[in-house]
Amino acid sequence: MSDSSHSIDRLFATATVRDPLEVLKRVYGYSAFRGRQQDVVEHVAGGGDAVVLFPTGAGKSLCFQIPALCRPGVGIVISPLIALMRDQVEALKQLGVRAAALNSSLSREEAAAVKRSLAAGELDLLYVTPERILTPGFREMIGTSRIALFAIDEAHCVSQWGHDFRPEYRELGLLAEAHPGVPRVALTATADPHTRDDIVARLALDNARIFSTSFDRPNITYHIAERDQPRQQLLRFLSRHEGASGIVYCLSRAKVEDTAEWLNVQGIRALPYHAGFDRAVRDANQDAFLKEENLCLVATVAFGMGIDKPDVRYVAHLDLPGSVEAFYQETGRAGRDGLPSEVWMAYGMADVLQRRRMIDEGGAAEEIKRIERSKLNALLAICETAGCRRQAILGHFGEAHPGNCGNCDTCRNPVETWDGTEAAITALAAVYRTGERFGAGHVIDVLTGNVNEKTERFGHTSMPVFGAGKDIPARTWQSVFRQLLAAGLIKVDHAAYGALQLEPESRAVFRHERQVLFRKDRLTSGKAARGARTSAGRERSALSGSDLELFELLRAERRSIAQEMDVPPYVVFPDTTLIALAKERPRDDVELLDIPGIGEAKRDRYGDQFLAVIEAYLEGG
Ligand code: ADP
Ligand code: ZN
Repeated sequence: MSDSSHSIDRLFATATVRDPLEVLKRVYGYSAFRGRQQDVVEHVAGGGDAVVLFPTGAGKSLCFQIPALCRPGVGIVISPLIALMRDQVEALKQLGVRAAALNSSLSREEAAAVKRSLAAGELDLLYVTPERILTPGFREMIGTSRIALFAIDEAHCVSQWGHDFRPEYRELGLLAEAHPGVPRVALTATADPHTRDDIVARLALDNARIFSTSFDRPNITYHIAERDQPRQQLLRFLSRHEGASGIVYCLSRAKVEDTAEWLNVQGIRALPYHAGFDRAVRDANQDAFLKEENLCLVATVAFGMGIDKPDVRYVAHLDLPGSVEAFYQETGRAGRDGLPSEVWMAYGMADVLQRRRMIDEGGAAEEIKRIERSKLNALLAICETAGCRRQAILGHFGEAHPGNCGNCDTCRNPVETWDGTEAAITALAAVYRTGERFGAGHVIDVLTGNVNEKTERFGHTSMPVFGAGKDIPARTWQSVFRQLLAAGLIKVDHAAYGALQLEPESRAVFRHERQVLFRKDRLTSGKAARGARTSAGRERSALSGSDLELFELLRAERRSIAQEMDVPPYVVFPDTTLIALAKERPRDDVELLDIPGIGEAKRDRYGDQFLAVIEAYLEGG
């Protein structure tokens, strides 16, 4: 596949210096750098160290690939997942870049061939795992090579604070001493200050320049729904994404399997993924997800790290994630290509109880449990906000956002609020009067005056609070208790079977010193669903009529090329390129180069085939 007639050397045979912008245009087919890319590229190409903290989809890859191509020698990329190196390397080869990976999945002959190319100075980029780079054999081998730079991808793996801690990452600081003068760039989409400090300290990047940007993902629509009939709600959500791929996260392995099976019965192609499956099954399902264009992957959080499939159109959570950080990381896998994508989550009281129980009954130290509880509360506050979700989420990461993004459920369908101070007092009184010994279900029975075995046995039917809240439906009380929890006015004691208890802050409410605003649930509001449907529709509405027809033909062409080569379709061209082709309809080689994502190598490789599709379409229509 690495046909040398397409190689970078040929492209630059006449150039003396490789100018980053020229590489961007001729190799990648893009006309301009994005955001702070150019700053990073120039800094690293000039020999500086860098820490790059950009959100997913911002284009971190170019931040090390282009400097590697501009500098003499091979760029060594340390990446944690072997499974994903193959596609990255393949995508680079398609661009005419001389890329290779060295890892345990290669046969002895393949590995020997890569080593020969390395020794001969015939590689632009080499992908390796951290384990590999630390072996004496490998270190000796690169000791004699000319190295353009080291790129440490997914650099948050160095930090114990993240979910993806990889001990070998800690040893990578060695590279600084062993290769003085070779620039090193660490990249991650995890922004919290703790992780950033760990990266700097552990990777000996004290002199590195830190580049960061807003963590906003403007192309992602956020939608958080109260759980009503979860499967029907999920189905409605998925129906907005027909023909697209996405991820549905569930908390347990059993739920992953059940949900995937059920979706297939509903006519939606779905595959399960969790850590309990054999390696072979996991690899096969991951591979299908990367290669197919219409597949719903139902997974536990074991799935996703390092997945850089650009066209994940949706991420759904059927259960509450563990924290805002986890939520942001998991949902961040949507829309890497910058096209509109949708994030959806359903949650309810049961999630809160389940998560609390997992924390309380877990083996962690009390200090850790306290942190976990406050992380959960922060997520709940985002779920229960009546304001802009994006503002709440970014605010959690310390980033100011004016709000009213117009691209989240609360902005699209402003939530009505009601003054719930009296209701809160009644609810808190019911918790207190019944002795802070009962869960929400029982307390709601008391409030609504539900005579049953339990309310009678405990003598609650004769209390003044019994039936004190019967004007408000039980479902609204559910929502009230959820919001009281989110507001930190009550807590759940798992040691006491989920009993609700008052927090000290509730005193101010009793004393009428604190007003309580509740959001109105909108479980059955058709308006919300309609609003959201238009949002997702935008994905396609970038195209209409004949453009859309042509897009589908181009997509079919891409699919057959990808199948023949056994690579994911986006390795051939991303959707953004197909959309531009459908709209611009280039007629020749020169016009092709104006299409974003078509550089010289790809023009040579595929130009004729796609031009033929366009021509046939224009003549036929
Ligand atoms: P990240 O690693 O930050 O998540 P990627 O490097 O995978 O992001 O880039 C995301 C997408 O954006 C890719 O499809 C990439 O080709 C595209 N991209 C990156 N930089 C540019 C640019 N300057 N112009 C147009 N597209 C770009
Ligand atoms: Zn908003």
